[in-house]
Amino acid sequence: MILGCALTMAKKMKVIFKQLNPEKFAELIFDMKECISAENLHREDSCFHFDIPEEIAKEIINSEKLTKELNEKIIYLIKDYKEVEEKIIHRIQDFWDKEVERIFFKEMEKHMPNCSDSEYICYVTDKMVGSYFEESREVVLNLMKGKNEAWLSSIVAEEILHLIYWKFWSKIFNKEMTLEERFDIGNEGVNGWMISEIIPDYLLIENNVFKKFGWDKIDRSKGYRWIRNLRKRVDPLWVEKKDFSDFIIKVHKLCDFKRQ
Ligand SMILES: [Zn+2]
Repeated sequence: MILGCALTMAKKMKVIFKQLNPEKFAELIFDMKECISAENLHREDSCFHFDIPEEIAKEIINSEKLTKELNEKIIYLIKDYKEVEEKIIHRIQDFWDKEVERIFFKEMEKHMPNCSDSEYICYVTDKMVGSYFEESREVVLNLMKGKNEAWLSSIVAEEILHLIYWKFWSKIFNKEMTLEERFDIGNEGVNGWMISEIIPDYLLIENNVFKKFGWDKIDRSKGYRWIRNLRKRVDPLWVEKKDFSDFIIKVHKLCDFKRQ
């Protein structure tokens, strides 16, 4: 398949880990507004690990833009949060750089050639869920208690995989769509977003290359209960695929979405 971008195999991709400062945090809360009220993410837990008063939640949902005033209100709401210790961020960065980075991007390039960007930012916090932001190429690592660097790296890898995947997706289907629109692709049983959330199972969790980090023991269906059922329909396509592009095209037929 011709993906229409120049070969950049020698390119080095990197991830920079950072504190989530209040200004950036306010931006991310605003960007994830659909999550504040949304049951539509099919998740057990909420996206933020603190309460957002209804009044501010409404204001966030109803505002088209993050105004200076609203920004200040959100910052005030989160003013007491402690940032993650610098040394923890260093440890995660070190592990990622030494152990994961090279093989992760090599795997991504293998399946989704020329879809990785040269730099990603990963914010580390214990106050919100793992998430990804396509335009800014930023992701969030939810610093879960009691998890080591190897386990945490799997979350970083998943979020960055999503960024790479959606770029790949746009090339395959020759379409630019918002995340919401991709949600709407599909039927009762499966939509475009669900497919995107099944991909890490194959490319990360069940990929032998990452077994040495213990990723094979991670059960993603704890967070996404529907994964088990959907996998019954998707697994055969994964086994029979010619390559990753072929798989993606075929799996989208499950949600009545065809390539144009
Ligand atoms: Zn995910």
